[in-house]
Amino acid sequence: MHDDPSPGPWAIEAEDLGKKYRRRWALTECSFRLPAERVCAMVGPNGAGKSTFLGLAARLIQPSTGTLRLNGVSIDDPAVQARVAFLAQDKPLYARFTVGEMLRLGRELNPHWDQAVAERIVRSGDIALTARVGTLSGGQRTRVAFALAFGKRPALLLLDEPMSDLDPLARDELSGLLMAEVAEHGTTVLMSSHLLSEVEEMCDHLLVLAGGRLRMAGPTDALVPAHALVTGRAVDGRVPRELTARHTVVDSRVNGRQFSALVRPAGPLTGTAADGGADWDVMAPSMEEILLACMRSPESPALIMDDARKETAA
Ligand code: ADP
Repeated sequence: MHDDPSPGPWAIEAEDLGKKYRRRWALTECSFRLPAERVCAMVGPNGAGKSTFLGLAARLIQPSTGTLRLNGVSIDDPAVQARVAFLAQDKPLYARFTVGEMLRLGRELNPHWDQAVAERIVRSGDIALTARVGTLSGGQRTRVAFALAFGKRPALLLLDEPMSDLDPLARDELSGLLMAEVAEHGTTVLMSSHLLSEVEEMCDHLLVLAGGRLRMAGPTDALVPAHALVTGRAVDGRVPRELTARHTVVDSRVNGRQFSALVRPAGPLTGTAADGGADWDVMAPSMEEILLACMRSPESPALIMDDARKETAA
């Protein structure tokens, strides 16, 4: 279907992207693509490779293998930066500058700068433009960093755990702002997050990383229905073979005589009583249950949906 890889409507196209530090791969064989105008969450346990991917996309680190294109432009081309904004986890700002001076710097560095949106974000947090950055709280600094990122009017906004130091009110407000930005300007957002409820609420696309490898990628409305939560009676203290033999069991637990398993069904999930009374109930899992299962069992098979698959050039 998507046999026209460039300059397609892809915000991100990664092909065999990898980063090796000494003998260890922080990210390896990472191939996927993300359509434009999506809000995509990047989820994975600590050390999964999320910051490494974002660092590669922000051109802060050099890849060891593969290619990466953002908005159709290779990261080898310095022009890629004009339409990409990156909000790092440590939100680097100049402590001696006032907030107004930080915004002026943003204006001078960025040709598409939107002063009104940057000032609105700062002011709605009751932060004076005359305040020195060094005197602000962590949450206030985050807000100023958001203002700088939004003011740039990027086509692609990369956020490394953006909401982690915000109080619930500020989080609610800034996530609303993010969604409005996407709706109004067609901005694509890629954000790493540990807050699974936030991911479920805000994102329409998912990337799951574990151990430096891509474990799952695709639109949430395709990924979620590809899973089922199966519970039932364990057979000899295990998940029934009937289930494991036919379907992909991502993660399972046995508690006394009961098992529960998160499954990618290969066909109808009908239990029968043939092997010692194995029978089960099938429910639709929440996205949070799927993400937890996927992170708990990093060795389970990867699931890269067709839409997210980056075909290797023939
Ligand atoms: P995440 O953001 O998902 O927590 P990272 O991308 O920060 O994961 O890290 C992935 C792996 O790469 C980890 O094992 C981490 O220790 C390693 N790593 C990250 N940065 C460096 C570095 N500068 N030097 C050596 N190893 C690194």
